[in-house]
Amino acid sequence: MDSPLAVTTARPGSALLIRDLLHRARRWAPLETVTYRNLRTLTYAELLARMERLGGLLRDLGVKPGDRVGVLDWDSHRYLELFFAVPMTGAAIHTVNVRLTPEQMAWTIRHANDTVLFVHVDFLPLVRACRDAMPAVRKVVVISDDDVAPAVEDTDGDYESGVANARPVESWPDFDENTVATVFYTTGTTGNPKGVYFSHRQIVLHTLTAGMGLAMYDDPLSLRATDVYMPLTPMFHVHAWGLPFLATALGMRQVYPGKYEPTMLLELLERHRITFSHCVPTILQMLLHHPASKTVNWSRLKLVIGGAALSPGVAREANDHGIRILGGYGMSETCPIIAIAHVKPLDVDADAETKLGTYTRTGFPMPLVEVAIHDANGVELEPGKDHIGELVVRAPWLTAGYLDDPQASENLWRGGWLHTGDIAYLDDDGYIRITDRLKDVIKIGGEWISSLEIEAVLGKHPGVREVAVVGVPDAKWDERPHAEVVLRDDAVGTVTERDLQKHLRVSIDDGSIHKRAILTTIVIAAALPKTSVGKIDKKVLRARLAGG
Ligand code: AMP
Repeated sequence: MDSPLAVTTARPGSALLIRDLLHRARRWAPLETVTYRNLRTLTYAELLARMERLGGLLRDLGVKPGDRVGVLDWDSHRYLELFFAVPMTGAAIHTVNVRLTPEQMAWTIRHANDTVLFVHVDFLPLVRACRDAMPAVRKVVVISDDDVAPAVEDTDGDYESGVANARPVESWPDFDENTVATVFYTTGTTGNPKGVYFSHRQIVLHTLTAGMGLAMYDDPLSLRATDVYMPLTPMFHVHAWGLPFLATALGMRQVYPGKYEPTMLLELLERHRITFSHCVPTILQMLLHHPASKTVNWSRLKLVIGGAALSPGVAREANDHGIRILGGYGMSETCPIIAIAHVKPLDVDADAETKLGTYTRTGFPMPLVEVAIHDANGVELEPGKDHIGELVVRAPWLTAGYLDDPQASENLWRGGWLHTGDIAYLDDDGYIRITDRLKDVIKIGGEWISSLEIEAVLGKHPGVREVAVVGVPDAKWDERPHAEVVLRDDAVGTVTERDLQKHLRVSIDDGSIHKRAILTTIVIAAALPKTSVGKIDKKVLRARLAGG
């Protein structure tokens, strides 16, 4: 028998469960608010009471522990309520990626085995059209912004009346902290989307560590509980980076913007004096270049950028607007935050330019995160710029695998490390420096060259707004780089492809970039294809180029 001194006894409250993130908010911030667009403001007291009635509604809908509940909504207070209430019943919330094609979306709902769906009216036609392809779905609850939701055939009532009329849960059930709380799908380069999943324990640990990672530094970029939070990465994508869980646990004032419409986002940023948000670089650029951008006082905003490299050009532009900008790194499989690019205490007095250099490093691993760089044989490489390999990770909150896909899961976790598919090195100060995606590296005549390096150089040209570099087949070199560039409005018609070639040439001549970058073809384009979460979609670009 185990000695009682060797293993502690589990007592009530000792498991790490999502419901425990609410205890403090309940008492600390009952009158603090959560706002949805210009449509609705709830106090935390109201929000938490609604979650309890939502628990009752889920019970009435027959949701049982272990079930999966799909949500198709824009970012809203309802989504936040579902973020908490669904897992707190012991079921898992499937945050459906509403930007997939209808077939892919139906495929994910079938694959996740969702039994109940909460569907915003905007997505009802799609759900109706695909209903036969989702045989496990028993109930569909309609979400609408109207006070009185439209009656819709073949559905099971609307969210607002369901929440208003349900008998609240008296207490949330106890269960194992390893119970799956969330599921969502990530789109790979080939094949069907892959499902990743996270437990209560993982969400709680990610929330606590993200709080430490974002808030503990004596730095004007640090998150404060007095900040006003609004997500700018959708809630269906890696739980909006997990930050709604953190903001709620801290009882912060929060604003949810609904569908991402630039004018509405800008209006909400200004009206609610948002001080803390996060997004991918393309969303930031879209907002900064919008005509209504001038109406926003950007200088109060602290913004975490992740999901793609934060280029020095974008960081400088954000800085010029007064935004305090910070890089972060993670992926769907990692819940997502792994690393944040804070400056070390020794450097806090460095000049602005040096600090900007740090903020655009990929990031420093957060507490509890172990990282290594492996070569193609799984051998660990030393730190240093010359030791580039695949970034592998261990942390308590990484997905255990891909849902119902043992082979892909095995591959993700080969050798006992989660393989990120990102090419990186660890710099001399211990920061992760991503140089490329495994699949984005361009192999020219047997030598690897980083598409990100060429992008960074072209992105520094003052006329360039966006740039993507991909490898294209080449008879002589196997592959060579091809750049597609979108110009800033004031550069259209004045900056030419030749100017950009000349600009690239300078960096090749001074040795700051691989000499074979000279083989890059450059094309000025009107726009670049984007993924469902607004990142530049190199997969589509490659396919387009392959098609001639
Ligand atoms: P997703 O799973 O869609 O969130 O995409 C994750 C991928 O985005 C990572 O594997 C990286 O390739 C890329 N990514 C995320 N953050 C960064 C970053 N700070 N720098 C460069 N690439 C990044």
